[in-house]
Amino acid sequence: MLARMDVITLLGAVLVNALLMSLALAVGVGLRTRSGLQAWQFMLLGQAFGFGLLIGATFGAPRLLATLGVMALSGSASATVITACRFLGLRASRRWLLGAPLGLGVVHALVFSDLGVATGLTNLTIGAQIIWASVLLLRGAGGMRWRWLCGGAALANGAMTLARGCLALGWPEIYPRFLTPNPLNIGSMMLLNASLVLGTMGFLLAHRDAAEQALVRLASLDTLTGLLNRREWMNRAGRALGIGATREAAPVLMMLDLDHFKRVNDERGHPVGDEVLKLAGEVLRGELRASDLVGRYGGEEFCLLLQHCEPEAFGRLDSRLHMALTRRCEASLGFVVDFSAGAVRVQPGEALAAAIKRADDELYRAKHAGRGRTSCAGGVL
Ligand code: GH3
Ligand code: MG
Ligand code: MG
Repeated sequence: MLARMDVITLLGAVLVNALLMSLALAVGVGLRTRSGLQAWQFMLLGQAFGFGLLIGATFGAPRLLATLGVMALSGSASATVITACRFLGLRASRRWLLGAPLGLGVVHALVFSDLGVATGLTNLTIGAQIIWASVLLLRGAGGMRWRWLCGGAALANGAMTLARGCLALGWPEIYPRFLTPNPLNIGSMMLLNASLVLGTMGFLLAHRDAAEQALVRLASLDTLTGLLNRREWMNRAGRALGIGATREAAPVLMMLDLDHFKRVNDERGHPVGDEVLKLAGEVLRGELRASDLVGRYGGEEFCLLLQHCEPEAFGRLDSRLHMALTRRCEASLGFVVDFSAGAVRVQPGEALAAAIKRADDELYRAKHAGRGRTSCAGGVL
């Protein structure tokens, strides 16, 4: 069946597919976003452009057009690496991303008259670039299914391109010329087409995953401090209390409120007040363990749920928090801000709201006792 197809038609289909998918992405996602999809759009355009130039080279100016064509294809392989890096949050070496297409262009122009060497080196370079992208995708962390789709498609395409390179260098006499209807040419065109379609679908899924994660972040984090927002903190604290109900070490719940914060806003302005809140968030994140739950309860109030916090450890942590906040504010803003807090040990079976109420009562006591201190219910210390 393969022998009855012709390469020009298949190549035309790849070219039109790549152009249309790139256009559809431009319409659907826009041109301005510096996302992974934008890099993939360039990758698709590079494919269309590169193969267009290679077809053009069969009509005239072969050395120039074929060299520009392989440069476009290698540039498009670099765009695959950039796409993978953007979606995985990695950085790629610019030297290699730019160096591969430019170096390949120079070498291709120089060795053009030796078809086997020119084709072999071109395929080896581009194949290595695509394998680079596939390794990044397949090794990336997290159970994202799109990684397997894109990585698998890139791996198949890269392996096929490398194999063509080896064949052209090692056995140039049996290597089929570009447009001959050889099963190798036809099979690789079909594989290339499939890998472009699967890659596009996979990266669209990646784009959707990233948008979903951004929404989840937005819905669960406080934008000013980066801490959990009240709703998310309540959810997680409720779950933690439910799970920990059978354990003997009761967690400590602590409510914190910055002292005379209104004065900071009134005397120094709202932006300085915001800076204080950010510093407080940094101090809390820096001083607490990853397993502790830290949230912004509202305004200038923060809520903490501390697991496995023995009385002595709590005493030390509390002094550390007071010291760290006053020092950070003095060093960064030139004035001191402290907090008052109330702490309770959550009783087995106690509802979260009830524990918060008790911690709030303790906080009220700390304020009335002169601020800048932590009032603890029996059992915390
Ligand atoms: P106290 O020591 O009794 O806690 O006095 P206070 O001035 O800190 O207490 P109060 O609750 O009266 O003031 C809280 C202030 O926090 C009032 C509000 O304008 C300010 N605030 C709440 N949210 C923000 C915010 O996001 N940014 C800034 N800059 N200020 C905020
Ligand atoms: Mg307050
Ligand atoms: Mg306050």
